[in-house]
Amino acid sequence: MTPSDAGVPPSARWRDAVVRPNVVGHRASDLHDMREANITLVLRLIRQHGPLARVAIARRTGLSRTTVSSIVDGLLAEEIVREGETLNAAPSGGRRPTLVHFNESAGIIIGVDFGRTHFTLLATDLHAHIIARKSGPCDTDLGPDVLLQRLISEIRQLVTEHHLDWDRVVGVGMGIPGPVDATLNMLVTPPRMAGWDMVDVTGILRSALGVPVLLNNDANLGALAEGRYGEAVGASNYIYVKVGTGIGCGLVIDGKIYRGSSGVAGEFGHFTIDKDGPLCACGNHGCLEAVAGAPQIVRMALSAGYGQGEAAARAPGDDEDAEVDVADVIEAALHGDMACRAAVGRAAELIGVAMAGLVNLVNPSVILLYGSVARAGELLLEPIRQAIRERSLLAASRTVRVQTSALGDSAIALGAATMVLDAIFGSPVYIEHVAGDDEAGEAPALGAVGGATNA
Ligand SMILES: [Zn+2]
Repeated sequence: MTPSDAGVPPSARWRDAVVRPNVVGHRASDLHDMREANITLVLRLIRQHGPLARVAIARRTGLSRTTVSSIVDGLLAEEIVREGETLNAAPSGGRRPTLVHFNESAGIIIGVDFGRTHFTLLATDLHAHIIARKSGPCDTDLGPDVLLQRLISEIRQLVTEHHLDWDRVVGVGMGIPGPVDATLNMLVTPPRMAGWDMVDVTGILRSALGVPVLLNNDANLGALAEGRYGEAVGASNYIYVKVGTGIGCGLVIDGKIYRGSSGVAGEFGHFTIDKDGPLCACGNHGCLEAVAGAPQIVRMALSAGYGQGEAAARAPGDDEDAEVDVADVIEAALHGDMACRAAVGRAAELIGVAMAGLVNLVNPSVILLYGSVARAGELLLEPIRQAIRERSLLAASRTVRVQTSALGDSAIALGAATMVLDAIFGSPVYIEHVAGDDEAGEAPALGAVGGATNA
């Protein structure tokens, strides 16, 4: 049966679910809502714990077998699930039941990492497997009018270049550098993005692309991905720190992204390190990112003598072509250049001092570093570990592991796609709660189940 025969194309159900994420958690106001809530419950269960027989779905959800059969038949017609192999052993001598499988190809999610100087786009299936990827330079100084149109065309190109079906695109998740107000769903006074304050990024993308768009701070999304697929799997309290031109972090506390009262939590780069220090992009003086961000590392390396030979040989007027960026400094540091090593080491020490306070405050088990400066690896990590050892309380410092991100350049875009998947299906924490009752045969009460989204 084709999707049109079934009446509702699969993508319509998913797109609706992105913007009505907590349907299961709310009291159903009418029979339609009740049925939609039950469909969502069944789908979440099959996605996390499938393949499952219909009888097992009924037992785990507490729904009647008739209701489950009717829901599964509907989902089969919409091609959101498929029936596959049978169970190996038949229960008590009866017929071997057919298993219901989640069809992860029924929808496509677009994850966007929209950075100040680069972008990464991913297309994933409904299990967050990456099926297409695209990246390129970006310059947020060009402003939202130019860049959002460019982003829209890049997203369309990603889909067409990989011969994906746009009708199956369920939603777009986007990570952006700067504080995203959780209520307004907008960037609010981003320190390094003049012209982007209160721009309706999600509204502009949604009206151009015709699909729901969710937005969050990029470090929050990197943290989400690391906790789900990377180096923080199994950790309930961890910090994902971006060290580049700006410094920021995603904080996960008790298994949830901590966004603060208005979505601004994690602006680690604006800890004051030196109250009389250099002016920061936020308007204050001596913030961590003003004394230890990538531009400052370049400045420290140059003033310590890095590149002086080349500068002397350079003809006047060549300055722009010869501009040193942090990647050059880190490359040279890794190859033993003493001026560059000292610059990276000094920045690492300052980051470590600030991080020692964060370790005392949050007591994380893992700290993951990511960003252009994190490419320095141990040159960055070791001074940070040392500062934490010296300055945090022993009880907190001895349990924390400090290392670089495992997912690297994919983390934020993958986290952005995961945010959309969580909006539809809830986070795995929620599913475990439902599934835990399986063997006892107890049914969770529908109205009592929370949305438990992480992002
Ligand atoms: Zn600042």
